[in-house]
Amino acid sequence: MQTTFHDLNLSTQLLNAIEDLGFTHPTPIQEQAFSVVRSGKDIVGIAQTGTGKTFAYMMPILRDLKFTEQKHPRILVLVPTRELVTQVVEEIEKLANYITLRVLGVYGGANINVQKRAILQGQDIIVATPGRLYDLALSKALNMKSIQKLVIDEVDVMLDLGFRFQLLNIFDILPERRQNIMFSATMTQDVDALITDFFKAPEKVSIAVSGT
Ligand code: ADP
Ligand code: MG
Repeated sequence: MQTTFHDLNLSTQLLNAIEDLGFTHPTPIQEQAFSVVRSGKDIVGIAQTGTGKTFAYMMPILRDLKFTEQKHPRILVLVPTRELVTQVVEEIEKLANYITLRVLGVYGGANINVQKRAILQGQDIIVATPGRLYDLALSKALNMKSIQKLVIDEVDVMLDLGFRFQLLNIFDILPERRQNIMFSATMTQDVDALITDFFKAPEKVSIAVSGT
């Protein structure tokens, strides 16, 4: 029998948001990644483009993110491009429609002082490109000490674009005790090397391409 969103034991607020979106069933990557992300273990999820990877990590994260008024963000999502920052922020806002949550997207090429002011107001989730994230952290505008989960989305594209060094710099300024969550459309040699070099035995959740 096909898994439903109810089977995932989501909150009523999340279920209502998903119903508004018209989604009837979780996709395979959403179904299989859910309990692993919730477990707190490091995870690398592989599934092709368009299979709903954003919700695959955001549903379990939002399921457990309790509302507080604390200032410093607890979740950091890194994506390779500014277009993706905007897209991911929009997806999060849809899913979080019925919960109180502060989410901010930051990327290069936009006014950094505007971003600094928004950060000062207090945020729960930051979605960022690596370069701008690092600049904001170095300038002390963004305090990383409360980050509990690091998501690296499109990690294959990230490495293809030459962001490995930037990622390593960011790992250095994050709390060591954190969950690492990586999602990718493909398992490339570079992705494999990053995992081997920097992550503790992540759980692998891989959805085969259908029809091959
Ligand atoms: P990916 O990151 O794997 O490329 P996205 O997370 O961008 O995929 O999702 C692709 C599209 O599918 C988005 O428009 C998203 O809102 C939609 N989507 C996500 N989950 C579901 C679902 N369970 N059922 C139907 N559509 C979904
Ligand atoms: Mg995606």
